[in-house]
Amino acid sequence: MATITTRNPHTGAELATYECAEGERIEEVRSQAAAAAGAWGEVAVGDRTHLLRALGDLLTERREEYAALITAEMGKPIAEALGEIDKCALSCHVVADLAPAWLADEPVATSAQQSWVSYVPLGVVVAVMPWNFPFWQVIRFACAALVAGNSGILKHSPNVTGCAVALEELLDAAASRAGAPAQLLQTLVIDESLVPQIIPALIADDRVAAATLTGSERAGVAVGSAAGAALKKVVLELGGSDPFVVLDDADLDAAADAAIRSRFGNAGQSCIAAKRWIVQQSVADDFVSRIQDRMARLVAGDPADPATNIGPMARGDLRRVVHEQVQDSVTEGATLVAGGVIPVGPGYHYPATLLDNVSTSMTVAREETFGPVACVIRVADDDEAVRVANDTAYGLGASVWSRSERGLAVGTRIRSGALFVNAVVASDARMPFGGLGRSGHGRELGAAGVREFTNVRTVWIG
Ligand code: NDP
Repeated sequence: MATITTRNPHTGAELATYECAEGERIEEVRSQAAAAAGAWGEVAVGDRTHLLRALGDLLTERREEYAALITAEMGKPIAEALGEIDKCALSCHVVADLAPAWLADEPVATSAQQSWVSYVPLGVVVAVMPWNFPFWQVIRFACAALVAGNSGILKHSPNVTGCAVALEELLDAAASRAGAPAQLLQTLVIDESLVPQIIPALIADDRVAAATLTGSERAGVAVGSAAGAALKKVVLELGGSDPFVVLDDADLDAAADAAIRSRFGNAGQSCIAAKRWIVQQSVADDFVSRIQDRMARLVAGDPADPATNIGPMARGDLRRVVHEQVQDSVTEGATLVAGGVIPVGPGYHYPATLLDNVSTSMTVAREETFGPVACVIRVADDDEAVRVANDTAYGLGASVWSRSERGLAVGTRIRSGALFVNAVVASDARMPFGGLGRSGHGRELGAAGVREFTNVRTVWIG
């Protein structure tokens, strides 16, 4: 039987080995997911929220255990891992509070005696998830899909298989506490080489209604194509190369603090990290020197140490890609201000790296950089800032910094799924989250995210 062995990316040490599911087990999961969805869809929305509250409470009770697991498996600094679990717990309660209104019937005035829109569960949703926020990506999907009355089958990244198994157990514990059916979210541990066959077959199965994926464009194309071929609904949350625009009237200290937090948190492995710093020329030197001061204070090292700001990257291949992007950009003419050298020693550490004088044709500006690498693109004025910000195939988030109304004016002209003015792009359970273009389509979170996996049904009484 095929197995998956997880490793600590800080030390390289083996963590655990898991058996992969094969034919019979996959069939069992499919039929159990369909049965769970059938029973769960009959439960009133208000009663479904008890499951989310139990989930939130359990996450809080087990926060240290789960945070330590995240840190061990993918190298997130422990302080951030605790933050991830706390965000999951809070979001469960927020969705429990708000979803009954989001899913309530909506009367519409027509020529009918009565007419309304209702939000009906779809059934089983297949969720393919990545390793960078191993609990949050799954919990944000699960809250939405489950409160809407569906069940889920989780296919997680192999390097966070311990988190995947823990999440299934967590959901079952929450269901038992809340009196909900078991097996509403089941984990399938799949041999990586079989993923391109098993996932499309799962999506095509008549008992599966829809799919969602968070991850790379390559995986998004695979899951999107499988869903298209089977005529199933799909939500795709893919990469990003978010602009972080600093106008000449910005509060430079606040902008520098935010830029550091957004780019170097999670060792830069976030879809909504500020990946392109677009800075007006007249303040660029001041901004860069503030950044250098702050970068010098970042502590890199053991992610289990609460003092660490930057842990290792999650895998060796991911570090290699980022390092090549840095080297290519320097060859193309970027100025390497800090970092850029792979440290000697075990694990997949990469230093906080700053590239200045980057142009839009360089590799770091064209490609998504999924690591602790910041780049500064200097622009003359607001119009050039907008042009550069929009010179990308992605469209996830955008952040603009200004003390005047120019911030919102510039931001509004940038094409993105989210606009944050004088704030770091972040997800919030109350607001929709998703992108345009190569960043994917559909929405997670907020009313829009909860309704994605429903049949938006017209009811007309003549
Ligand atoms: P992937 O997109 O390959 O992995 C994400 C998930 O998709 C995993 O569960 C993976 O499973 C699955 N997957 C991959 N290929 C297929 C397929 N053909 N059919 C079905 N599922 C599939 O990301 P990586 O971990 O390799 O990271 C590569 C890059 O992706 C990063 O450098 C970054 O640019 C981007 N990324 C973006 C994320 C985001 O939040 N938007 C999150 C993670 C990565 P398996 O690994 O078993 O193949």
